[in-house]
Amino acid sequence: MNIEEKLITPIYGKYDAIVVGAGPAGCGAAIALGRSGLKTLLIEKFNCLGGAWTTGFMNPFFDFANKTGFVKESVTELKKEKQFGGFWDMSFNYEFMKHILEKKMLEANVEILYNTTFSKTLVKDKTIYGIVFENIEGRFAVLSKYVFDCTGDGNVASSAGCPFEIGNNGDYKDCQAMTLMFLVGNIPEKYKDGLMIYDKLNEAYRRANKQIPFKVPYLIPVPNSHFGVIQFTHMYEYNPLNTSDLTKATIEGRQQLIDAFTYLKKYDEEFKDLELITSSSVLGVRESRRIIGEYTLNIDDILNGSTFFDAVAYVTFNVDIHAKTNNGQKCFSVKPYEIPLRSLIPNGYKGLIVAGRCISGSQEAMASYRVTGNCAQMGENAGYYVAEALKQNKDIHDISLDIKLFEN
Ligand SMILES: Cc1cc2nc3c(=O)[nH]c(=O)nc-3n(C[C@H](O)[C@H](O)[C@H](O)COP(=O)(O)OP(=O)(O)OC[C@H]3O[C@@H](n4cnc5c(N)ncnc54)[C@H](O)[C@@H]3O)c2cc1C
Repeated sequence: MNIEEKLITPIYGKYDAIVVGAGPAGCGAAIALGRSGLKTLLIEKFNCLGGAWTTGFMNPFFDFANKTGFVKESVTELKKEKQFGGFWDMSFNYEFMKHILEKKMLEANVEILYNTTFSKTLVKDKTIYGIVFENIEGRFAVLSKYVFDCTGDGNVASSAGCPFEIGNNGDYKDCQAMTLMFLVGNIPEKYKDGLMIYDKLNEAYRRANKQIPFKVPYLIPVPNSHFGVIQFTHMYEYNPLNTSDLTKATIEGRQQLIDAFTYLKKYDEEFKDLELITSSSVLGVRESRRIIGEYTLNIDDILNGSTFFDAVAYVTFNVDIHAKTNNGQKCFSVKPYEIPLRSLIPNGYKGLIVAGRCISGSQEAMASYRVTGNCAQMGENAGYYVAEALKQNKDIHDISLDIKLFEN
């Protein structure tokens, strides 16, 4: 049985640009748009900025080195607060990251709405003219000249009907494993700069007579503290676009982390005082939709170091696929390469930019550019392109910007 819904949706406001999702890509985009003087709205379903950086308990900050702009600024401010360093000299404090991002966002005059969930894209003839969102006040439409899809999952693009790829050849079971990150406290002083914790966990699992679910786990302390995150749980073959699967993966992740914590505490003398603080309130999904854009980054681009006239990011990070085979990771190096703005533009659509891990690329390319330094940089520079297009009243393809992506 279908129920016909008749809704009159009030209009919340009109903006030059709306950014959906406040992860690294969304923060980069909103800051650039705001600093360019555009009336910008940023909506986020949780109650902080940062996405995987903060709600996801993700650490360390990969591919930040030598980058310009917002990435460099954020790291500089974290360092000034003595909240950056530690593990691989690139880890940070989650709460300071939230605070620094909020300061920057407000300085850029961006209007932020937390606890606000995107629900539908307003689109006509493949031209996006706004979105619908829901929050405690109800359901609203917001109109704008440009919408940035920074949801990680390409939700806005998908709602607009943009085609996308998933996994390898469309099979979600080929997507990378999911991880539920968890915080622990009372980390022994000798490990306060981090540890590849496989040998210890493996021995603890052996003594518990259990099979270890993942072979490349890390303990990543927050700098200058005795607490940190354990990147360990691995859930395979769940569909990242299915809520029931995401729920089952989360429950499986919680079982895995309880086991890991219990065995480590019980069987490893060095970790006998370890405390379990909490798990992330969002499941870590490494991979879901990859939109079909005007240009799809491919394996040749990342192996040969492709450069582009419309580059928005400079990537040095290796390919890192959390594969189900052998419970490990498939990694190989890339030649530093650029990401073109065209990979952020869904093919045939107007008024829509997709930034972050869901841009147009092959599965292997995505496994390299998906890390946070790159997502933040591409969001920021796409923001500058859009700002210029709106100021000059031109199509984005007719804009040419000379952007400095890295420093030697
Ligand atoms: C377990 C795990 C470990 C990782 N480890 C590292 C690492 O060590 N270093 C590293 O640099 N990268 C790491 N990554 C990769 C990196 O975190 C992501 O690829 C990156 O954060 C993607 O950035 P993004 O801005 O595209 O999306 P996200 O960071 O996922 O941000 C998306 C934002 O959109 C919001 N959102 C989503 N849907 C809606 C909606 N409907 N309405 C409103 N808001 C919405 C979300 O709440 C979130 O804030 C890891 C990823 C995972 C999952």
